[in-house]
Amino acid sequence: MISHHPSPETLLAHATGALAAGHAVVVAAHLQGCAQCEAAQTRMESLGGALLEEFAPEPLADEAFAQVLARLDDPAPAPTASLRQARLALPSGVSLPAVLRGAEIGRWLWIGLGLRYSRVRLPWAPEQNVMLLKVAGGRKVLHHSHGGLELTQVIWGGFHDITGQYGPGDIGEADETTEHQPVADPEGCICLASLEGGLRLPWFTRLFGG
Ligand SMILES: [Zn+2]
Repeated sequence: MISHHPSPETLLAHATGALAAGHAVVVAAHLQGCAQCEAAQTRMESLGGALLEEFAPEPLADEAFAQVLARLDDPAPAPTASLRQARLALPSGVSLPAVLRGAEIGRWLWIGLGLRYSRVRLPWAPEQNVMLLKVAGGRKVLHHSHGGLELTQVIWGGFHDITGQYGPGDIGEADETTEHQPVADPEGCICLASLEGGLRLPWFTRLFGG
C-alpha cells in the first residue's frame, strides 16, 4: 500500500518534461509501482496535448525530426540488470526499478556505520546526482534541512520521520523548507535518491555530521 506520492507540482513537472533528469528517474520508478500516480500523469499528459493543439505549433525543423528518428533507432540498452543485482547483493525478491536499465550502477561503497552508497550514473545525464542507498536497521539520522529538491523512493525496507512511515513504493519529497530526522526500520532500507545541485549526499549520509 503506497501512502506517499510525489507532489502535484513534481508530477506535473515530470509529465511536461520539466523535471531534472535525475529526479525524473526517481519519479518514473515511483510511477512504475503506483497506478494512482500513473493515471494522474496520463491525465496531465492528455490535458497538455489538448492545450498544445490549441496553438499552431512551430514546424519541427528537419534536423530535429531526423534526430528524433535516430534516437528511435538506437538499440535498447544491454539488459545487464541481473548482473547489477548480483553485484549489489539485493535481498531476495527485490529488483531494481526498470527505469534504471541503461544506467551505470556502481558497487556498494561503505560510507559510514551501517551505511552504503552506490552511485547511479545516467549516461543521458551524467551530471545528475542519483544514487542507491542502503541503511542498516534502526539507524537514526541527525536533524537536517536540504539545499534543494531531494527525492527518495523506497525500494526495500522502510524508514519513518516526522512526515510519516515510508515503505516500498513510497516516495519522500524534501526541499530546503524540510527538516526531519528519519530512522530506518529494523530490517533496514534501500532507496533510490536524487538530489539537486552538485555531489551532495542526502539524509542517510548525515548520520554523524548533521
Ligand atoms: Zn503515487
